[in-house]
Amino acid sequence: MTMEFRTVEAETSGDDERRLLVWKYLDVGLITEVEPRADTQQAAQDILNRLKPESNNVIAKMTIAGFYEAPVEHDGIDQSCETCVYFQVHRRYCELPEIDLPVEPHWSCRLWRI
Ligand code: SF4
Repeated sequence: MTMEFRTVEAETSGDDERRLLVWKYLDVGLITEVEPRADTQQAAQDILNRLKPESNNVIAKMTIAGFYEAPVEHDGIDQSCETCVYFQVHRRYCELPEIDLPVEPHWSCRLWRI
């Protein structure tokens, strides 16, 4: 039980550092592929296929996934991490395996799913 707690604590601490790194890339204006959005299964799969070889490259993952520092309005819906099925609320984390990064609730990417 104690070990589990320590593991979560360590993850959370690491998450904060990685979240800050992602935020810094957004803050300096990293150009990402915000459009086109992944409206179809095929479009999403194509993006995921590009992400898979980039598991250790934060900039490539942010670029391909289309990270953006605010919700993106698409088809009348504000798409944000907060409302995405892949968002872990308590950890503030994107659990989509191909992304696997800490995020903020108001950020967005084009793999958003409800
Ligand atoms: S998949 Fe969802 S939770 Fe992950 S970064 Fe994109 S919008 Fe945010």
